[in-house]
Amino acid sequence: MSYQHQYVDGTRIHFPVGKIVCIGRNYAEHAKELDNPVPTEPLLFIKPGSCAVPLEGGFSIPADRGAVHYEAEIAVLIGKPLSTRPSAEEVLDAISGFAPALDLTLRDKQAELKAKGLPWEVAKSFDGAAVLAPFVSNGTFADLTDIPVRLTINGEVRQDGNSSLMLNPIVPMIQYMAGCFSLQAGDVILTGTPAGVGPLNVGDELVLELPGASRFESSVR
Ligand code: ZN
Repeated sequence: MSYQHQYVDGTRIHFPVGKIVCIGRNYAEHAKELDNPVPTEPLLFIKPGSCAVPLEGGFSIPADRGAVHYEAEIAVLIGKPLSTRPSAEEVLDAISGFAPALDLTLRDKQAELKAKGLPWEVAKSFDGAAVLAPFVSNGTFADLTDIPVRLTINGEVRQDGNSSLMLNPIVPMIQYMAGCFSLQAGDVILTGTPAGVGPLNVGDELVLELPGASRFESSVR
């Protein structure tokens, strides 16, 4: 299904679907569960906009490429251009909204690439690899260092995180990213996953939420 940014009330957001900038190992407990060292500087990678699919209505996963892991994350929609190390105020002014999202990963493939020291694109950038929910507007959260995110699968809470646990908090993270390359209206930031990642299976019933702000039900087709 084709994807377009929208708010929770159904309003379309008329930005192009840009790149999806991701940060790896941004929660210490998640780095540990995959036996990865905690990075000393932010570990960035980019998914193309072609990865994006809507969460609502169900989504599909690759059937024959090994384990497909979910990573529940807080997604930030960028609404204004940012470049060359913007101030915290400029970053706050450029944020259009927040949503829960799934950064899907071909975990077996990624392990193989990591072992060889190769880039992760094949494991991270397949069609459907960024599952995005509608956004709540900027201003929903008074404190960006206290945003909860939770994923429940088949009635069991699998991931229950909070931006307070991030090694790189949202605003400094976006400042860093914009210092590495320009961000544009329609780009999405995936802010890293808390502990509890695991495989998805066809037929799984999901509840993905920013508790207190937005809640969505979906399923794996
Ligand atoms: Zn991730």
